[in-house]
Amino acid sequence: LDALAALDPDIAGVVVDELDRLRGGLQLIASENFTSPAVLAALGSTLSNKYAEGYPGRRYYGGCEVVDRAEEIGIARGKELFGAEHVNLQPHSGASANLAAYGAFLQPGDTLLGMALPHGGHLTHGTKVSFSGKWFDAVQYGVRADTEHIDYDQVRDLARTHRPKLVVCGGSAIPRLIDFAAFREIADEVGALLMVDAAHFIGLVAGQAIPSPVPYADVVTFTTHKVLRGPRGGAIVCRAEHAKAIDKAVFPMMQGGPLMHAVAAKAVNLKECLQPEYRAYARQVVANAQALTEGLAAEGLRPVAGGTDTHLALLDLRDTGVTGADAERRCDAAGIVLNKNAIPFDPQPASVASGIRVGSPAVTTQGMVESDMKRIASLIGSAIRDHDGSRTADVAAGVRELVGAHPAYPDPARAG
Ligand code: PLP
Repeated sequence: LDALAALDPDIAGVVVDELDRLRGGLQLIASENFTSPAVLAALGSTLSNKYAEGYPGRRYYGGCEVVDRAEEIGIARGKELFGAEHVNLQPHSGASANLAAYGAFLQPGDTLLGMALPHGGHLTHGTKVSFSGKWFDAVQYGVRADTEHIDYDQVRDLARTHRPKLVVCGGSAIPRLIDFAAFREIADEVGALLMVDAAHFIGLVAGQAIPSPVPYADVVTFTTHKVLRGPRGGAIVCRAEHAKAIDKAVFPMMQGGPLMHAVAAKAVNLKECLQPEYRAYARQVVANAQALTEGLAAEGLRPVAGGTDTHLALLDLRDTGVTGADAERRCDAAGIVLNKNAIPFDPQPASVASGIRVGSPAVTTQGMVESDMKRIASLIGSAIRDHDGSRTADVAAGVRELVGAHPAYPDPARAG
């Protein structure tokens, strides 16, 4: 940070202020985490300088023998961690990983069957504003109105009617476990390939806290920066029979040179995930999400789908008379960072939303446990009911107490 501060105090100030912000509040965005100083060191390394188009041993540039080692080590760790036949660590992001998977298996105009965004899916699973909905004939399934669980009957009916080439499951706001065996059966019945977008929950799979999609899916895409706790980026795991198609789709079809500093940081993260401490972390993430959800239910926020099996919960706020947007703003004012989120069949537009989404990955990294989650739930309840702002200071004091007892990046010199 000294070199940065000397050259560019403006950006050094941003880095320091962001660290202060992270340390000063409760970070409950379900897709965020605090990656380790070791991962940050690899990210901030000279590996960023290297062009390495291609794959280890098969590059289009000279001088790749050193960075090859980072990618080979990362791939070996990924195979071990996920019991996978093939791993590609080059996707720049989760969206890039999904684009590559579609590129490997689909032609423009082909049919894919994915989960609708307002029901918990992701933009890249077929929404009209995304390449996935613009370039493909995207058919969308959702959850049942009564249980708010994935409607597997609807998935089967849509698959039989539309005969998709690719069935996609996974999403950004699915609190419950996904029945991968059911998706496999449906895909097989109609001769489709099965892609699991495990971006949100792959860290729980890595830590063996929930079942793995790898034995069921043709291809599993994911981000590396959510529960997994690695650098911002994407990755793909697939069956050996699809390895060539996936590698060619990542490069040269969809991307140019890999970000070798990010590939190395992914390798570091995968080493962390292979340690017993990471398994304990993953289990605690789930226990914390469940404790937080129970606490929020006691505050009058209704858990969508009746609760959570994972790291995130979706809460329906309609009984409180407060919108998701207002709840997000009120929590933010007190240092509780979460996001408004559409609930299934939401009567509000997405920009207002009737719900909030909360996640436990970051606060669990800070070392918080179930009792802390009960306290967080009570602070959120107070913030949401704070119609005139009179309680903001009290809630903010409670937040400071909690994060003071469990600081993120306790040694800030190693985090910048
Ligand atoms: N897939 C899912 C399920 C996600 O939740 C996300 C991001 O939140 C993505 C893909 C896209 O990842 P990225 O933002 O890295 O492109």
